[in-house]
Amino acid sequence: MITYYLVNMGCPKNEVDGQHLEGILADEGFISLPEPQDADMIIVNTCGFIEDACKESIHAILEAIEYKKKRGTTIITVGCLPQRYGKKFIDSLPELDVIMGVGIEKGFRSVLKKYKNKNLKTPYVQISPPFAYGEYASHLREVKGNHFQYLKIAEGCTNQCAYCTIPLIRGPLRSRPMEDILKEGEELVAKGAQELILIAQDTTSYGLDLYGKPMLYKLLKETAQLPVKWVRLMYAQPYNITTDVLQLISDKDNICNYLDMPIQHASHKILKKMRRNESSLDIEELILTINKNFPDIALRTTLMVGFPGETEDNFSLLEKLIRKVRFTHIGIFKYSQEEGTDAANLCDQVPDNIKEQRYNRLINMQNEISREKLQNLVGEKIEVLIDNIEENTLLGRTQWDAPEIDNLVYIESDEKRTAKPGQFVKVKILMGFEHELVGEILHEPT
Ligand code: SF4
Repeated sequence: MITYYLVNMGCPKNEVDGQHLEGILADEGFISLPEPQDADMIIVNTCGFIEDACKESIHAILEAIEYKKKRGTTIITVGCLPQRYGKKFIDSLPELDVIMGVGIEKGFRSVLKKYKNKNLKTPYVQISPPFAYGEYASHLREVKGNHFQYLKIAEGCTNQCAYCTIPLIRGPLRSRPMEDILKEGEELVAKGAQELILIAQDTTSYGLDLYGKPMLYKLLKETAQLPVKWVRLMYAQPYNITTDVLQLISDKDNICNYLDMPIQHASHKILKKMRRNESSLDIEELILTINKNFPDIALRTTLMVGFPGETEDNFSLLEKLIRKVRFTHIGIFKYSQEEGTDAANLCDQVPDNIKEQRYNRLINMQNEISREKLQNLVGEKIEVLIDNIEENTLLGRTQWDAPEIDNLVYIESDEKRTAKPGQFVKVKILMGFEHELVGEILHEPT
């Protein structure tokens, strides 16, 4: 019996890749352990998106190497970090036994076979061009009974945002055949998924490469045909959002009234320098249209502060837009000067203390907006999906909240009024805070 411990770093897309590797490990008879100390093999599925993420991945690798020194554990490093840095990465960590990039499923299985047959020559290195297509064995995906599941609909990205490393690491957009995605959705629902979350670098470009036209509307509609309670759409780029998709989200009961739509900035000058596909006018018009015609849709966005050349005037346009359109959720990034991106060579880099100030100003502004929005829900009866239980407290989410990044609902439970993770309950909202709701279970069917 060979045991392993796998750690996933980074985004949900990388988590899905990690689940595929676990499926192949199980298929080859390897046993998963919850902790690294007794494992024969440690696999670090790295993130290489921005500097901070790279540091976290390196830290996890160095921790794994300590086990090798102590007990000869085999260390396997895969994913975006080796894919991004290639030889530089390989030379910097001679202790590693296996180094692989992305899209590696096929190669990974042969490594496991060699390891089992004791003929794995190390260091073993396989870093293919990012556009390689691995074996996408969705049926093998190890989902560990989680009631929400990410459904990766495409790999890579053909947009060329000036600050982004993703196209360098993951290559151009490659949409998955729709029938494969729907089959995987069906398998995940059969394995207990109550919520399917459509993800990619740019979900709105789905199908452009494979079918020569946008196919997100059809995919979303078909996915909502599956016997699943919630379908959620994330990573939708503004320039490609269509009214029919918005109408479908608004009309279909089992599609969450939720849209994650990164806009990055509100200054036309900065959006142009970022090489984003939409203008500040496009963005504002789109958001105001969504708020007017689809007021039930909770909008999440991602913003970047401190992009090279960002002046106080540019930044105040961002503050003005947030105040005006009042997003439900905002993820804020401080610009990170990433080697290999065009923006890294721009001269007017913004000092870190200015980035920090602007980051905190947006956080404080959004906390106020979020508090007001959540306090407006007091007294409402809302359907909540329970994610976890901590002692006598149930933690759940409304349809307006994505897992792991958005608001939570806290519910006191007792023998009579309780629920399990994966169950839906009707909750009366008692209090609203910045990013939390407090409620009580109502004995009403959901
Ligand atoms: S849309 Fe832009 S920011 Fe997003 S993954 Fe593609 S290149 Fe990167």
